[in-house]
Amino acid sequence: MEYEAVIGLETHVQLKTRSKMWCACPNEFGAPPNTNVCPVCLGLPGVLPVPNEEALRLTALAGLLLNCQIPPRAKFDRKNYFYPDMPKNYQITQYDLPSTVNGFVEFEFNGGVARVRITRAHLEEDVGKSFHFERTSGVDFNRAGVPLMEIVSEPDITSADMAYEYLNALKEILVQGGVSDCDMEKGMVRCDVNVSVRPKGSRELGAKIEIKNMNSFSGVRRALEYEIARQIEVLRSGGTLTQSTRRWDDVAGVTEEMRTKEYAHDYRYFPDPDLMPVAPSEAWLAQVRARLIELPLARKQRLMRDYGLPAGDAEVFKSNVPLCNYFERLARGAKNPKAIANWLLNNLQARLAETGTSLDDLKFPPESLLELVALVENRTISSSAAQQVFAEMFDTGRSPALIVQEKGLAQVSDTAAIEKFCDEVIAAHPGPANDFRSGKAAALNFLKGQVMKLSKGRANPVLVGEILERKLKG
Ligand code: ADP
Ligand code: ZN
Ligand code: MG
Repeated sequence: MEYEAVIGLETHVQLKTRSKMWCACPNEFGAPPNTNVCPVCLGLPGVLPVPNEEALRLTALAGLLLNCQIPPRAKFDRKNYFYPDMPKNYQITQYDLPSTVNGFVEFEFNGGVARVRITRAHLEEDVGKSFHFERTSGVDFNRAGVPLMEIVSEPDITSADMAYEYLNALKEILVQGGVSDCDMEKGMVRCDVNVSVRPKGSRELGAKIEIKNMNSFSGVRRALEYEIARQIEVLRSGGTLTQSTRRWDDVAGVTEEMRTKEYAHDYRYFPDPDLMPVAPSEAWLAQVRARLIELPLARKQRLMRDYGLPAGDAEVFKSNVPLCNYFERLARGAKNPKAIANWLLNNLQARLAETGTSLDDLKFPPESLLELVALVENRTISSSAAQQVFAEMFDTGRSPALIVQEKGLAQVSDTAAIEKFCDEVIAAHPGPANDFRSGKAAALNFLKGQVMKLSKGRANPVLVGEILERKLKG
């Protein structure tokens, strides 16, 4: 029997706020252990949490970016469990009234656009981090109480590769939207992976296996590849699967069972009595909406449509917002956006990388690039001369026209001068000239090259070709 995979992801993302979720401790990575802590995030008795307004705004913003609805009322609940890295013995989260619901993410996959529905994106808090030493263990509470958003997908994902692309798309949206830095190295994105298999075409869901706390996208992909194959194997050999939680062992490349799955009632959720429900006002939502960006995929599609860019160019711009903004500033209303894109993607990016500078440090004004494109287009300079002009303009910031003049790079379009060059070359190379006359078309390129050399690269190559042909045929 053929089987198919069904996958849903729960992705935890640290929000980009200055302070923690319920206190004024800094939300910062890399501080010495237990230095960014206070009675609130340590869960000492008698303290009261104060919601971080920016975290609420970022959650709503993320919801809008994920095409979610913002319900009129949200609330915070306590999820009760004991674990050493959680000082309060409960985690504040949103249970039945999350901040955002019913959205979707679209991304390119398999030559088309895939859509994964988002069940909800809710706000909660992070926990501390345990460390195990030779003889003791320790907990660093710097991360306890950092605002965390959980994005729950519907089980719409059908393969390991699709899960990987979904995660990349999600990350790109959240980073560009300013919701999170999504720095994987700093553990800012963590994922619970839910996967089941079922007979191909079946409408029923199989037993859900959850792989907890994955911290890399490639790890998610590998774990899924392994787990899907394992589940199919179990069913094929007549076994059954039961809902359970597994752990991914990255070194061994296998998943192993941790526990059979806990259920919601195990957590004894109840509304946090210290926190008021949240009811976003229209004015507050308008403020959040003002921070919306054009989604990366929509922008890529628009670049292709409006400027006729090939998908490859548009893809590079999509993932590099400053460069894309720079491009659009120049390309709006320009005759040849593709030529501008070429300069940015082939020359400018390379020079920025070589010199370790950014777009903000450019010595030349953006208009200089338009001028350069125009000089090539109206054949004032050849494309090889344009490379020289660009290099000089990048290094000094001087205007292309000035550089062309100073270096004598203007093409010779004066027919009389080119005729003279052509006569000289034909006289000097009778062999290739005769070859051409007797039908060897390729000989013309050699002669053209000689004329260009003689003119020190300045002769207009189109004119050279025309004049040579006329002389040789005549
Ligand atoms: P729980 O109540 O155990 O948290 P949910 O129904 O809330 O389970 O789903 C959690 C995640 O698991 C969601 O991302 C959802 O899409 C996914 N999921 C649910 N059922 C299945 C299944 N049978 N196979 C794969 N993924 C599933
Ligand atoms: Zn604190
Ligand atoms: Mg659930």
